[in-house]
Amino acid sequence: MRAINIHQFGGPEVCEIQEIAIPTPAEGEALVRVAYAGVNFIDIYMRNGTYARSHTYKTPLPMVIGMEASGTIEAVGSGVADLKVGQRVAFCLSRGSYAEYVAVPAWKLVPLPDDISFELGAAVMLQGCTAHYLSHSAFPLQHGQSCLVHAGAGGVGQLLIQLAKNLGATVFTTVSTREKADIARSRGADHCILYRDTDFREEIMKLTSGKGVDVVYDSVGKTTITDSIRCIRRRGLCVLFGASSGVVDAIEPLALAEAGSVFFTRPHLADYMATAEEIRGRAGDLFRMVKEKRLSMAIDTVFPLADVAAAHRYIEDGKTRGKLLLQVNQ
Ligand code: NDP
Repeated sequence: MRAINIHQFGGPEVCEIQEIAIPTPAEGEALVRVAYAGVNFIDIYMRNGTYARSHTYKTPLPMVIGMEASGTIEAVGSGVADLKVGQRVAFCLSRGSYAEYVAVPAWKLVPLPDDISFELGAAVMLQGCTAHYLSHSAFPLQHGQSCLVHAGAGGVGQLLIQLAKNLGATVFTTVSTREKADIARSRGADHCILYRDTDFREEIMKLTSGKGVDVVYDSVGKTTITDSIRCIRRRGLCVLFGASSGVVDAIEPLALAEAGSVFFTRPHLADYMATAEEIRGRAGDLFRMVKEKRLSMAIDTVFPLADVAAAHRYIEDGKTRGKLLLQVNQ
């Protein structure tokens, strides 16, 4: 089968397409014929070695990268009772999706409802479940509360804005351009701050009469974290969940105290997708909201599998305005 099998950590150029053997599903696994693979920042971190020492997201070389896909079950290993050959499924957080076939632990697979296309299935799993755990579990937003979502026109950003609005929160967001502000506003953001022209912390403090927001969801990291912590209300929460601008190496405990005794967490999606019930629960909520037209997901670009390097450059250059997909099988 064709697969993006990397032999060393590095830039997009290490993503070479190769012919390798189709995996055999082990006990408790299913073999999925991939229709679309999702492209996510986690793929960049796995490709460039950021997660080389992670126990949660293991990166043994050589490895087929890609952590999200939709497709059809081709075969099942022993002990898999609730999934059938031919069934349409989607998954995230199982490595190897940039390939024609991938063996996935059955408990991580979510059956796709008939009205959810393969494109949408692959698009909504990882970023959608991220937006779901951020807004429903890491800091369960309540009606009348406020949040700051950085990168509001990005994949997670657009979904998080919609989920936060569904929960009745006021949403502040930062974006780099006017075009991205229009996208974030179309998703429901109440206030869009163009961070290149305006100091986002000053703007948040002004708009909240000096109080700050209940929670900041910060995926940008290095360039934003210091000010993110300082625009939160007393005893609010800072959720640092990404590193789009670079990894945050350290946080001063005293900085949290000085900001108003704010709390700080740096979550992995895997810890909020710990069981089959949790995965199917979050995905089920997302699919239901899509059906009820309370949630929509923009597909930015679909690349052929062979163009992975271009897809990685696109996301690393901050160009995304929604989901990037790789088309693998028709
Ligand atoms: P996005 O589509 O949001 O793309 C990243 C955005 O970050 C860009 O569009 C850009 O928006 C902004 N950005 C700011 N500075 C930079 C920079 N220096 N380089 C590149 N982009 C920059 O990506 P995703 O939605 O796929 O992921 C968002 C983040 O969420 C990632 O950091 C990812 O790692 C994280 N994540 C974390 C998870 C977790 O559980 N911990 C799970 C899933 C994702 P603008 O132009 O408006 O600045």
